[in-house]
Amino acid sequence: MTRTTPPRPLDVAAELPELAGLARTATRLHPRRGAPTVHDSSVGGPLLWPASEPWPMYEPVHGAYGPLTTLADIHSLRRISAQARSRPRAPGEGGPTERETEVIDRIRAGYAVELLPEGPLPLIPLVQLYARDVPGLPCPEGTDVLQVLWSPFDEIEGCSGAVQLRWRRSSDVREILAEPPEPAYVDQSDHVPTPCVLHPEQVREFPPVHLLTDEQAKRVEVWAEERSVDYQGALSVAPGWKLGGWPAHFTYRYPARSDELQCGECGGPVEALLTVDSSEWDGSSRSWRPVEDVDGHPYATCTPTVVTVGRGCTLQIYACVGSPSHLPRSIMQ
Ligand SMILES: [Zn+2]
Repeated sequence: MTRTTPPRPLDVAAELPELAGLARTATRLHPRRGAPTVHDSSVGGPLLWPASEPWPMYEPVHGAYGPLTTLADIHSLRRISAQARSRPRAPGEGGPTERETEVIDRIRAGYAVELLPEGPLPLIPLVQLYARDVPGLPCPEGTDVLQVLWSPFDEIEGCSGAVQLRWRRSSDVREILAEPPEPAYVDQSDHVPTPCVLHPEQVREFPPVHLLTDEQAKRVEVWAEERSVDYQGALSVAPGWKLGGWPAHFTYRYPARSDELQCGECGGPVEALLTVDSSEWDGSSRSWRPVEDVDGHPYATCTPTVVTVGRGCTLQIYACVGSPSHLPRSIMQ
């Protein structure tokens, strides 16, 4: 099923002609729970990975907070919780069974940090995007798929091996890696996506307020107040997981300075590539909720991936403009 963003409440380009030239096209990914294969575009799905190519690894510099958990435990816990929620129940009954409660308690107790082996750990798949599915994918010449992997530890910000990109040509992958390595333990279960298939949709965006000039921002503020409309929430940047477009709003810290927005490998400019969001919409961005999701279970549709960044903000992944294979820069916004 496709996903369709409702029309914006006002036409920014018509009402504020000075912003018309600043419109950008973003591709909302609209992840929804499913069972993607290596041949599908996905969040948290298996990757089309050549058997002969080393899997990306990263050693958490600051170790782990703990308690640790495992990928298998995380998926078991989510499966049990979903089963318990979906079971019909009479008033005053319900919730997990005694047996399920035992398993949940064991998983929640986790494992001691001391069990973490020394050395680098395999990254886990975050996103796989095929050009045929995702309009606007900025494929370097000769490639047609983007893969992003990251670390299930608390070090995804900055420019390190904790977040890695791979651009490849899918037809080059003859022998597919059948059993990718997995980290023995996970520190941040919030970084483990529940597998989702994608329903990409292109939308038009206008700059977040921090990227307007002071004069533009002032005029937008006055205009938005006159028209009783929320520029940030409803008219500028789409919420949720997306490709390209304008970078996410800064909600919990000051906007990044230009010297922060540089490639960590070559010092060159970076551009917004992928936005990883903690929800597909929230109270202030509710107008972006796809028309198909109006009758869905609110939890199942606005947090399909179950990924949470920080305390519910956004990880904006910026890629090097000159050399797309350089390590990306990630900023919590
Ligand atoms: Zn670079």
